[in-house]
Amino acid sequence: MGRWFTALAEGCKPRGCRGDREGFRSRRSALSCTLPSRADTPAPEPDPPREAAAEQGPAGGEETAPDRCRFAPTTSGPAHPGTLLAALLCWLDARSRNAHFRLRLEDLDPSRCTPENALDMEAALAWLGIDWDAFSVQSDEAAAHASALDHLADQGLLYPCRCSRSEVKQLNLPAADGGWRYPGTCRQRELPTGGWRKCSEILRLKLPAGRVIPSDEGGIELAQAPDVQMGDPILRRRDGSIAYHLAVVVDDASQGITRVVRGADLASSSAIQYVLQDRLGVSHPVYRHHLLLLEERGTKFAKMHGAVSWRELEPLYPPPRLCGMLAHWCGLIPEPLDITPADLVSGFSWSRVRRRDLALRWTGRELELL
Ligand SMILES: [Zn+2]
Repeated sequence: MGRWFTALAEGCKPRGCRGDREGFRSRRSALSCTLPSRADTPAPEPDPPREAAAEQGPAGGEETAPDRCRFAPTTSGPAHPGTLLAALLCWLDARSRNAHFRLRLEDLDPSRCTPENALDMEAALAWLGIDWDAFSVQSDEAAAHASALDHLADQGLLYPCRCSRSEVKQLNLPAADGGWRYPGTCRQRELPTGGWRKCSEILRLKLPAGRVIPSDEGGIELAQAPDVQMGDPILRRRDGSIAYHLAVVVDDASQGITRVVRGADLASSSAIQYVLQDRLGVSHPVYRHHLLLLEERGTKFAKMHGAVSWRELEPLYPPPRLCGMLAHWCGLIPEPLDITPADLVSGFSWSRVRRRDLALRWTGRELELL
């Protein structure tokens, strides 16, 4: 059994997995369907074609394994209306197709992600009426993340970078995700003797040249030449924490995730994740990117983040009221009726979900649609 497979499986051991009704055995089973077969292990059952599974919808086929979905919010701050809309759409997508639904908290940024925020996120989702079949936090998956770095280092795809964030920003090279493109300044540098574990600098992925074409179920363009449009991404930060792209790809693979439903702000990161999936030899999930809630920031609109937390909404809106507003705003119901997430499952269809972003204003007393 290969080191990569073994360590990934070890990284899946449940710890503090409140609400995980499946446990380790079935997660290992999911893992064996996701990772490439090895000569020294029995070949796993092949995955069903993803497109066919998606088309079969809620009923599915008797021989089709249910989809595995996840909602993966960061715990760098409290839940806000945009978080709740994203959770609602992701949950409805999963429940309407009888899929397995995992809540996975992205808690890898030690400077911003706190245990209090993690508990607050769970409380916010439960308040709205969202439940989950499995629960995990990314910081529990350190062994799997390290194993993936080993695998990439073995392929010569990791290098240390000494450039600071401000140095990269000063180069003024815009990236496809709205950030700054790293031009590969340190690409020729090598890992120290002893490998990446002995390196105290940032670790970046050496992206191969060329265009990749992930597909989005809703038709959003995801094709990209990430080496040109994004630049080599950080996989491990200077403080030793694992960065978003690596964590999300490894966790999706080890948890057997087949559908990734997330906000359109993450669409431009799909190409890098697609490349990582290829380099790690794991399956590509189906992607579906949805609309965002925006708020006014100065003269522009930006993804809703800081205007109002769910705790400020809690005394003003009963959960079915807020759920009804969110469902109405995104097109699922014609009027903002009081309704629960569970009431929306049977009528849920992506064809009714608005594609364009929505702008909101928090007046201090209520949420207003602009
Ligand atoms: Zn550098």
